[in-house]
Amino acid sequence: EKLGVALLGLGNYSTGLLAPALQQTENCELRGIITGSPEKIPLWQKKYGIKDRNVYNYENMHQLANNEEIDVVYVVTPNSLHPKYAVIAANAGKHIWCEKPMARTSRGCREIIEACNKNNRKLSIGYRMQHEKNTKQIMEWAKTKPYGSIQKLTADAGFYGGSNLTPWRLEKEMGGGAIYDMGVYCINGARYSTNLEPVALSATQSTTRPNMFDEVDETTKFTLEFPNGITAHCKTSFGENINRLEVTCENGWYYLDPMQSYSGVQGKTSDGKILRPMQKMQQAVQMDDDALAILNGKPVMVPSEEGLKDVIIVEKINESAAKGGKRMLL
Ligand code: NAD
Repeated sequence: EKLGVALLGLGNYSTGLLAPALQQTENCELRGIITGSPEKIPLWQKKYGIKDRNVYNYENMHQLANNEEIDVVYVVTPNSLHPKYAVIAANAGKHIWCEKPMARTSRGCREIIEACNKNNRKLSIGYRMQHEKNTKQIMEWAKTKPYGSIQKLTADAGFYGGSNLTPWRLEKEMGGGAIYDMGVYCINGARYSTNLEPVALSATQSTTRPNMFDEVDETTKFTLEFPNGITAHCKTSFGENINRLEVTCENGWYYLDPMQSYSGVQGKTSDGKILRPMQKMQQAVQMDDDALAILNGKPVMVPSEEGLKDVIIVEKINESAAKGGKRMLL
């Protein structure tokens, strides 16, 4: 039996990736929508055969409590709104899948965690890379260390953002900026590549388009310090296309390039192993993994701590940059 998923926030990611991926999933299917844009409703209902009774807006979505066809609400709004809607959906008794970054603030993350705990609901963060095959290989190597101890790594994630940036991505209050949007791929990548938590960091922020980036960062460079002297040098940007994760070990190295594209994530190792791209849609694998955890009563693969830890690090990165690159302890 498949779980019923309702997408909340029908923007670019829901439209272009999640709804198509939900046509490929085996353990869950798209059954509902929650939207503040009435004009989108007929299009979505027609395209995906969504019943009238499974269509909600942000004002009436608490009535999901009376709808047993919907098991999961997937929150796909601008970043700072994740807590508000995730809390309403959890209080309506639904499991929560929440997009990255989990929220703008660690406080917002904790509100979601509390609501899911209180209602005994599962909570997964939409870090799709942790469901991708080559990324999983690198996560495994962080534990088995086939190339010896890890010494340093670099993680870069960004793209050139012009008119393709929806306005909220330039607004501080909404959780805009490169560090929240793309920087979390570097942070999460550094954490899953080492299987360690950073103990200190320093960061600087800059922009080449000050009129456009007057509230949020265009480019953030940061160094994460891990135990045992391991350092991660990271860069995230809305000003250039960068997409690579490289790990240097005592006896070799490996990289993923690209590290976080929707498809084609691939890499190489110092001894000539080729990490070939996965064929299935990452989002379909992710949602099937997350649905199975619910169906089987097992722990989710990417739990709330993954979201919270990264947002705490983002808060410290912003603080470091505001203090001229001051070293901050975590
Ligand atoms: P988007 O701007 O295209 O869509 C956001 C949606 O939220 C829109 O439909 C908008 O109408 C709706 N919305 C609800 N309340 C709003 C408000 N008060 N102001 C503005 N919009 C409001 O953004 P997106 O690219 O779809 O991103 C949505 C979320 O998904 C973000 O958290 C983003 O980080 C995440 N995302 C994740 C991935 C991934 O690979 N995991 C990729 C893209 C986006």
